[in-house]
Amino acid sequence: MNASGELPVRSRGTIGLLEENCTVCMLCARECPDWCLHIDSHKEPLPPLGPRGRPRVRHVLDRFAIDFSLCMYCGICIEVCPFDALFWAPDFGYEATQHADLTHERGRLREWMWAAPPPAPGAGSTERAASDQR
Ligand code: SF4
Ligand code: SF4
Repeated sequence: MNASGELPVRSRGTIGLLEENCTVCMLCARECPDWCLHIDSHKEPLPPLGPRGRPRVRHVLDRFAIDFSLCMYCGICIEVCPFDALFWAPDFGYEATQHADLTHERGRLREWMWAAPPPAPGAGSTERAASDQR
């Protein structure tokens, strides 16, 4: 917090999810050192791309939650996501009196997404497709 009482814009307050970008690859959940990401999905069939193609499937996200009672704000999940679906947001007012209430589901994570700042000048080209969708 600076002298005027404002948080730096890139504070690690919480983690926002842009679920349109999430392919349910599970990389973030596998790399999280605290196992605090909870992701569920189901498969949906897709038609073949051509007459000789094979049937395809895609994963549809059913649940994406982060247990902030375990999260240590290391940022590994954000760094490893290959599809730019996770972002730091500066919000920090999500206190709770029960551990269970510190697990936040996709709806809350999406709300935090909109508080995430746009990419810094010169940031990677794919970073923050979200900023174009606001
Ligand atoms: S910031 Fe670190 S501890 Fe928290 S969910 Fe991401 S990988 Fe896990
Ligand atoms: S790494 Fe990214 S795309 Fe993969 S499951 Fe996590 S948030 Fe979704």
